[in-house]
Amino acid sequence: MSTGISKLLIANRGEIAVRIIRAARELGIATVQVVSTADHDMLAARMADQVIEIGPAPATKSYLNVERVLAALAESGADAVHPGYGFLSENAAFARAVAAAGAVFVGPSPETIEQMGDKANARLSAIKAGVPVVPGSDGRIETIEVAFDVAATIGYPVMIKAAAGGGGRGIRIVRSQEELDQALQAARAEALAGFGDGGVYIEAYIENARHIEVQILGDGETFVHLHERECSIQRRRQKVWEEAPAAMLPADLRAELCASAVRLAASVGYSGAGTLEYLYDAHRNAFYFIEMNTRIQVEHPVTEMISGIDIVREMLLIAGGAKLGLRQEDIRINGHAIEIRINAEDPSRSFFPSPGRIEEIVVPEGSGLRFDTGIYAGYTVPAFYDSLLGKLVAWGQDRPAAIERLKQALDATFVGPKPTTLSLHRMLVRDPDVISGAVSTQWLEDWIARAPRFGQPTS
Ligand code: ADP
Ligand code: ADP
Ligand code: MG
Repeated sequence: MSTGISKLLIANRGEIAVRIIRAARELGIATVQVVSTADHDMLAARMADQVIEIGPAPATKSYLNVERVLAALAESGADAVHPGYGFLSENAAFARAVAAAGAVFVGPSPETIEQMGDKANARLSAIKAGVPVVPGSDGRIETIEVAFDVAATIGYPVMIKAAAGGGGRGIRIVRSQEELDQALQAARAEALAGFGDGGVYIEAYIENARHIEVQILGDGETFVHLHERECSIQRRRQKVWEEAPAAMLPADLRAELCASAVRLAASVGYSGAGTLEYLYDAHRNAFYFIEMNTRIQVEHPVTEMISGIDIVREMLLIAGGAKLGLRQEDIRINGHAIEIRINAEDPSRSFFPSPGRIEEIVVPEGSGLRFDTGIYAGYTVPAFYDSLLGKLVAWGQDRPAAIERLKQALDATFVGPKPTTLSLHRMLVRDPDVISGAVSTQWLEDWIARAPRFGQPTS
């Protein structure tokens, strides 16, 4: 298959860089991997056709350094850039600079990133497209008077959220009017320091919500959804366990949810892969849009497992100028898939990071299993970045079958000697609430507080 892209620069690291290189290879695209000084040994650097060092270990000096990434782009002669997730993936200025350098940014246009990657703007776009949002402010909160008004109207508790936030950061709960003024100031300062943008907005706090999101693909003219994923099992608002389809969602609501995502994508002429995230309130049987990720997501493999569609390949084809080759009626759900994130963190010590040398790694292979990783035995995990080591994905004909396969796979997996979140997942896969699907975004927090082994730090 030919694409409009001949050489792709991967502006990311870890497992997603490996994932992107694989998809590029299958399309006959040459690959250039950028690395910090700490990443010469990572798997993606060993796989890529060319490696260019872009700076010291701290991400601000390398993977987030637009100038250095653009210099690598010029040096390599690559004609496209895949940003992966995190880092520069939702940075409109970077997307614009890539285009100005004459290369293709694998993702939506800079204008779409501004419109949908900014969380306050995305809310407004959703309202315009007739997609239900969490009750809250119209865009950013500029004054404390407006904040008081909005919060009084929707009722406490409320959430203050950073417009530029991500990765579960930049969100705080406010339980009463007395806390609001100070919380707003603190949230603004934090957002400015953390994201370089002090903009915040307010949403009602939805109790016992489930996190459900819809994968979409668009080429600017045709838009399809690849059904939904559920990521309700979270710690500190970060996903820990993800599945597709959702564990329990009435069929009529699922259809409505997916249709709303396509409607919103179409309303902004979306091009590329994207995810619309929602909260689902099972008691009210209602869903509310919360944000859009205008990039590939960590949990995309579960959708690939149930749909048979390679999402990164589709991204590359669309970016190369191809029309979307998929029709909605051809996109079917086959079975159920679950992904667990294996992080270099110690669950028995408050998830304290545990980077360091990987001496041994054993992951079972077999039908219905997939492992996406950027590590190998003998590799030393640097302490500078996200703790994700790999993602184990299990597919089954239905949810119970996927859980059983995951359980067997987890028991046969070993990554050591440093602690990882595998121990947590071996417990989760046996938990009655997880098995029955009786979870919400607060569930794991409560579970950790109760679990004797995972409560307070033991040392
Ligand atoms: P996904 O949304 O794909 O499930 P995460 O929310 O875990 O994935 O985010 C993927 C990665 O991107 C994580 O490393 C996360 O910390 C990072 N990330 C996402 N958005 C931002 C942002 N706005 N600023 C900084 N890091 C971000
Ligand atoms: P991020 O950009 O960091 O991914 P999101 O807006 O997607 O932030 O929210 C992350 C998580 O925080 C959600 O999956 C959910 O668990 C929780 N959350 C966000 N907004 C609300 C809300 N209004 N009410 C309750 N929980 C929320
Ligand atoms: Mg989110």
